[in-house]
Amino acid sequence: MKFGTKVVHSSLPKNEKIKSKATPIYQTSAFTFSSLEELEGFYQGDSPYLYSRVGNPNTDELGMTVAQLEGAPSGVAASSGLGAILSGIVALCGQGDHIVASEDIYGGTYQLLKEELLSFGITTSFVDFTDHQKIEEAITPQTKLLFSETITNPFLRVEDIEFLVALAKNHRLKTMIDNTFATSFLLQPFTRGIDLVVHSATKYIGGHSDITAGVIVGTEEIMNVVKTKVVNLGVNLSPFEAWLTCRGNKTLALRMSKQSGNAERLATYLRTHPHIEKVFYPKNVSSKGNGAIVTVELSRECDISTFFRSLGWVKIVPTLAGVETSVSYPLGTSHRALPPQAQEKLGITTHVVRISVGIEESEDIIEQFTSALESSL
Ligand SMILES: *Cc1c(COP(=O)(O)O)cnc(C)c1O
Repeated sequence: MKFGTKVVHSSLPKNEKIKSKATPIYQTSAFTFSSLEELEGFYQGDSPYLYSRVGNPNTDELGMTVAQLEGAPSGVAASSGLGAILSGIVALCGQGDHIVASEDIYGGTYQLLKEELLSFGITTSFVDFTDHQKIEEAITPQTKLLFSETITNPFLRVEDIEFLVALAKNHRLKTMIDNTFATSFLLQPFTRGIDLVVHSATKYIGGHSDITAGVIVGTEEIMNVVKTKVVNLGVNLSPFEAWLTCRGNKTLALRMSKQSGNAERLATYLRTHPHIEKVFYPKNVSSKGNGAIVTVELSRECDISTFFRSLGWVKIVPTLAGVETSVSYPLGTSHRALPPQAQEKLGITTHVVRISVGIEESEDIIEQFTSALESSL
């Protein structure tokens, strides 16, 4: 089956007498048993469900669906992207272990690695992943894991997956990659040798800005450990949110295809605009497109506050990936906590704007940005 077919038809097998077309919402904290023998059956693997933190049909459907789309044998849903990342990391690393991570990863992941994982005795070195030699130099005898993102935020650097996989192999390390920005529609890093692939399903998998969720996929062996971590850390997803996420995911191919096409058109147009200093939009990500985020740096003649105020139906939102086009201001939100030197090094200036391109008609999107740029002069 092609991606666009698989994405619509993935759902749990149903064995009930009531043949509902959509998967029902199992909005329950636990499952009942009619005898001690039946209860014992759960532990023998006869019945799959006991208590929703441990497993629920809706969260299973989400984990399984994303695993199938990534070409991985196993997946699990988590309460958020960060919950999924935490579960994956503690499945692979423990007390005394070391991680080498890309320095341009998502701010929340950076905080998790830099602060919270210290309590688990896990340390991280943050390295410029465009410099392959620096990655290798950062590896110590304690290093267990290389961590990066397929497409980074906000400048949309595309990770060299083959290099990371080869390097990990040479040093007997595991690899984990955050595929949130690309989605499995554009890239399937597991099929290229990455051990664990993680998503903030809050973004494109959900697609409608109405849930917070995460998913992580990998081999059966590693995922068995990850699933235990999700249960023990209590970062399970609620059944209703899992259901909404599965519902949103059914249109992933349609949305990503339209949004990537719109983004390509917007990026091409903005490259020719006299008041756009720089356009960041990746090339050759996939044969299906290059993603739906476009980051721009406005020229100094533009008043940035006026620009944001003049965007009409394009709202300022500190997230991305919804069906509506939205903008965010990295200096004021995602990269706010960084020291000024770090902001400067990354290129997060006062005039950088990140655009999450939606499913509207591209002419209207281009028109809205043109008019806001004019107003800002
Ligand atoms: C949003 C995001 C996360 C965190 O996901 P949550 O669902 O907010 O926990 C992680 N990685 C990337 C690339 C993100 O965009």
